[in-house]
Amino acid sequence: MDVRVFSEAVSINRAAKTVTVHDLKNDRFYEEPYDTLILSPGSSPVRPNLPGIDLPRVLTLWTVPDADRIRALITEENAKSAVVIGGGFIVLEMAENLAEAGLSVSLVEKMPQVMPPLDREMALLVERELKQHNVSLYLGADVSAFEQAEGGVCVVLEDGRSIRADLAVLSIGVRPNGDLAAKAGLAVNSRGSILVNDALQTEDPSIYAVGDAVEVRSFATGEPAMIPLAGPANNMAGFVADNVVRGLVRFAPWDLALNDPDVQILDVREPGEIALLSVPNAISIPLGQLRENLQALDPEKEIVVFCAAGIRAYNAARILSGSGFPRVSVYPGGTQFYVKTRL
Ligand SMILES: Cc1cc2nc3c(=O)[nH]c(=O)nc-3n(C[C@H](O)[C@H](O)[C@H](O)COP(=O)(O)OP(=O)(O)OC[C@H]3O[C@@H](n4cnc5c(N)ncnc54)[C@H](O)[C@@H]3O)c2cc1C
Repeated sequence: MDVRVFSEAVSINRAAKTVTVHDLKNDRFYEEPYDTLILSPGSSPVRPNLPGIDLPRVLTLWTVPDADRIRALITEENAKSAVVIGGGFIVLEMAENLAEAGLSVSLVEKMPQVMPPLDREMALLVERELKQHNVSLYLGADVSAFEQAEGGVCVVLEDGRSIRADLAVLSIGVRPNGDLAAKAGLAVNSRGSILVNDALQTEDPSIYAVGDAVEVRSFATGEPAMIPLAGPANNMAGFVADNVVRGLVRFAPWDLALNDPDVQILDVREPGEIALLSVPNAISIPLGQLRENLQALDPEKEIVVFCAAGIRAYNAARILSGSGFPRVSVYPGGTQFYVKTRL
């Protein structure tokens, strides 16, 4: 594997199938050819355009150097107080660690509760825990500015209150790094997330995109969403790498009509699993017996493969595609997901 650090991809030339790379150490540019290109540029923390946002004690936590800077303020510059802004999981982890390090911590969140995706009664438990650890909560409070303060920063709120601290750390969301793709003429949504199909391909079939930078479809709502988490990013990377190396497997839509006469549902789980839960209208062929039983399937119809979690279904889909079945897809998440969404 040829890993090039200190190298920034600055543009994609889709016609020539090359990427222009800026070698940051030697300040030179060169063209790197590709057959298949996979974009995983991630996302960047949002830094709103507020007065004082560039003050040196107004920080974000995204990279290891960001964490080093916060640590240095505590260990070398004797910081004793912090304001953390945002109420999501990164801010909560920061509040926990800063309090543990002995700092007096204030948390400012625009919404009336921490962890906005949680139900109110669950969020209350989190808030109680924070208060028990002496974290001061400013909920339903919007930051309007940052002001320089002696040895620190003053966080000014819309309602006129202000909180003085030795440092402020912002974690109010992330913005997908879709600029490189957009500059290459690939479709991005209004937030900058790269648009991909179910195979994570952009509109250019030679270019895939994965991770924080892509728009996905929420399993819960079916709506377009951004899910900036390592688990999904890792899954997407493995899925695309496998597809690029071994050929393409598609996911079926999660809300697939299971009684569509043009679709054959193939369940590759073992009989013991099917006895516990059966999928309506499914043809049952355990994965280990699939190669000998291909004649049970109609190649004219689309085949959607089920298993418990997706791994056996993926292998079955590979077998079917390799055996000449033209339209094969995998039901995402298998029966584990089916149980949560259909029963
Ligand atoms: C403090 C913190 C805590 C987190 N905790 C969790 C957690 O507990 N659980 C969880 O699931 N997720 C967590 N996450 C989120 C998780 O880190 C991301 O979802 C995941 O890293 C996304 O992977 P990615 O490959 O899409 O992007 P990244 O990991 O951000 O990687 C993108 C890389 O591309 C590089 N890059 C961007 N543009 C270019 C370019 N033009 N040329 C060359 N290189 C480029 C960037 O420098 C970066 O190194 C956390 C994130 C943060 C910041």
